Amino acid sequence: MISPSKTQHLQHPFFDEYKVQVSVKRDDSIHPIISGNKWRKLKYNLAFIKQQKKITGAISFGGSYSNHIHAFAFACHQQGIPCIGIIRGEAGYADNYTLTWARHWGMQLHFVDRKTYRRRHDSDYITELQKQFPNYFIIPEGGSNELAIPGVAEVMSELKHQCQFDTLLTPVGSGGTLAGLITGDEEHNENVHKLLGVAVLKGADYLVDEVKALLPEKAKRHQNWQVLTEYHCGGYAKFSLEDAKRILEFNHITGVDFEPVYSGKMVLALLNLLAQGYFNAGERIVLLHTGGMQGLGGMIERGILTAEQWPIPLIDR
Ligand SMILES: *Cc1c(COP(=O)(O)O)cnc(C)c1O
Repeated sequence: MISPSKTQHLQHPFFDEYKVQVSVKRDDSIHPIISGNKWRKLKYNLAFIKQQKKITGAISFGGSYSNHIHAFAFACHQQGIPCIGIIRGEAGYADNYTLTWARHWGMQLHFVDRKTYRRRHDSDYITELQKQFPNYFIIPEGGSNELAIPGVAEVMSELKHQCQFDTLLTPVGSGGTLAGLITGDEEHNENVHKLLGVAVLKGADYLVDEVKALLPEKAKRHQNWQVLTEYHCGGYAKFSLEDAKRILEFNHITGVDFEPVYSGKMVLALLNLLAQGYFNAGERIVLLHTGGMQGLGGMIERGILTAEQWPIPLIDR
């Protein structure tokens, strides 16, 4: 486990042109398997589970290529916690890159259809599930619950000792990461930073309320954050060949690998915002690299990308 994760300065001709300083916080390198922000979000969830004698296992939810499911399966395996994944889709997905690993680490997979999966936040569905698995702790999709917040907040206390900056960018899926960053910023800094969440899915205006719902009372004072909803590239896990090329070029220039589902969309947002003149000259920007490289395994497997384009060290099966 490498925490605090390191912060690294990035060079790019665009940054010189617009006179900004850009660094990346490498949460992708916290752990070789547990995707960065998922490690942060699971940290206190797993500690809580271990502490509660009555809890004998954990359940969570995800799509069939989910970074959260992959991270959750490994983390539970590592901690000796039996776990169940409620997976959206058909049982045929059990052999894909992500779920083969999840099974390898001992996760029990329960496939549900889209209609059932849509009920994942409904209290009657959760009550039913809890009855079925009375001693299991239920963690929502993406790991975004109250216990996720203090884990992610630690990013801000680490950054405080690592670099001075004005603005931080993070990708946003369910909102737990952004909520944790807002909380940590409010907790550790007299003058809060500007926090920009880049929504990776379409029609994401609802995320503002999701983030607010996750904020502890005192973090609600933080007013300097925003969810940018224009940089989803067509929807969740969607992107054009052109988008992929721009991310690959950025990876090549900076020497840091970003993937096209989460962190790459943050990169594209950064490039677009720069071109719009959004940032002030001299502005110091931090990108939070949230990890998610395992997702490339499934994309390479499906022929969406090639291993040559994305030379990521994926673990062979
Ligand atoms: C899950 C995930 C996110 C989104 O985080 P949320 O807390 O759900 O908003 C961002 N980046 C990566 C790599 C992820 O796996």
